[in-house]
Amino acid sequence: MTFTPHGNHLIAGQWVAGETKFSSEPAHGPSHGFSVGTPEHVNAAVEAAEEAFWSFGYSSRAERAAFLNAIADEIEARADAITEIGTQETGLPEARLQGERGRTTGQLRLFASHILDGHYLDRRHDEALPDRAPQPRPDLKMIQRPIGPVAVFGASNFPLAFSTAGGDTAAALAAGCPVVVKGHSAHPGTGEIIAAAIQAAVATCDMHPGVFSLVQGGKRDVGQALVQHPLIKAVGFTGSLAGGRALFDLCAQRPEPIPFFGELGSVNPMFILPESAKTRGAQIGAGWTASLTMGAGQFCTNPGIAVVLKDQAKAFIDAAAKGLAQVGEQTMLTDGIALAFRNGQSRIAASEGVQEVLSSMCNQRNATPQLYQTTAAQWLANDELGEEVFGPLGLIVIADDIGQMHSVARALQGQLTCTLHMDQGDTKTAQSILPILERKAGRILVNGFPTGVEVSETMVHGGPYPASTNFGATSVGTLSIRRFLRPVCYQNLPTALLPESF
Ligand code: NAP
Repeated sequence: MTFTPHGNHLIAGQWVAGETKFSSEPAHGPSHGFSVGTPEHVNAAVEAAEEAFWSFGYSSRAERAAFLNAIADEIEARADAITEIGTQETGLPEARLQGERGRTTGQLRLFASHILDGHYLDRRHDEALPDRAPQPRPDLKMIQRPIGPVAVFGASNFPLAFSTAGGDTAAALAAGCPVVVKGHSAHPGTGEIIAAAIQAAVATCDMHPGVFSLVQGGKRDVGQALVQHPLIKAVGFTGSLAGGRALFDLCAQRPEPIPFFGELGSVNPMFILPESAKTRGAQIGAGWTASLTMGAGQFCTNPGIAVVLKDQAKAFIDAAAKGLAQVGEQTMLTDGIALAFRNGQSRIAASEGVQEVLSSMCNQRNATPQLYQTTAAQWLANDELGEEVFGPLGLIVIADDIGQMHSVARALQGQLTCTLHMDQGDTKTAQSILPILERKAGRILVNGFPTGVEVSETMVHGGPYPASTNFGATSVGTLSIRRFLRPVCYQNLPTALLPESF
């Protein structure tokens, strides 16, 4: 059934109209009008979230698990309508939206079972030692508690899994934190239908309506007011380095600074070690092509840089160029992202010492794959060559020897992922480079491609700045709940006062 958005904000269970409207810019299908959010909308949503915290923050784990499962059910109940508006707004294919929906509901259900087993509470107990000399020890118990209202900013490239009911929202609700989402202007209708699903789950589970609100964007002051609101206790953000950094700085400048968990950009370098380049260079090049162009290259884990030795580069480069030449035009998520891609391509193409391997015109909202190569010496001399170009663009960095490969690894900024391609004979080289990569990235792969992030117990989707603003955290997987908890120590509290059993 076709979904036609009404364009309003969901604030504490009510759909609220704004005074002015902005128009969505879908890749195809009709454009709709959406209310522009204001600081007043933000204030109403955050105050309701704070009020909701006094019940939701003290709800049982079973109640929250039922709520998360109910949200997943309500999303599934709207499956076709979500896919329809999602594909229209983002230009992503139907299969991608369907897969992402499964990931989103899977995430919600994973968090439900994660909180039920209770390990995330990290309960610790130092029993009282009344006879200890010279000082007796009191009874000490420690447990993780929810922090309060959380602000969530979704990303344009994951309209479901990293957005309104995505990983940040699921983790915060699982922890017991009410959520205020700042809607992404690239997919406001998708945001609205997901918000309606959450609203239905709030009613079914008899939760306080302030537990979830969606304030649509349209103007930058919405997001700024949200992160600066004194009742917001943390921010989950997925998006660009520029946007993330601006909001991170606002969080740090608050009278009460708060943590800003920003998952930002990354170039996800691959190091193709000599033996593997010799024996499987063409195969690795073909695999890279597929990873680099998946979703028009609009993945934060897109492997934008490949480092290979001069003497073994040919088979890899030829296969990559051949594979990329066969990929046609792909629709980008927004006009702005398509423009940023063209600008990024021009910047790389104009850089000293960079040669074009494959390039063709990009027009309007469509992009074709681009491939460039340079030497390690040139790459090391120009920091800009290490910056993300969001889209299907690959840069091959050709090193003279392993020493130069090490230098490239050392010069990297923080990354979400680093990849080693290696054969048995590369083990010693891999051992020498791994300690460098471990200091650079949240996830290290061998003989794989980083696109496709498993939602699981062990996943780390984060890394040193600028991959994220907080290297101790992950935004994917069950560990991501820790961002919205803080440890509290209870000294000599009677059992009746404790928030969880020990
Ligand atoms: P974006 O342009 O930074 O937008 C993200 C959100 O922040 C939007 O709601 C946007 O508002 C808001 N925003 C941006 N700048 C702001 C500012 N100065 N003040 C207030 N609000 C601001 O990012 P995007 O285009 O959605 O996503 C593309 C980028 O995300 C890529 O760089 C990609 O690598 C990265 N990404 C990272 C991950 C990860 O996990 N690390 C995952 C996916 C994507 P508007 O709606 O008004 O634009």
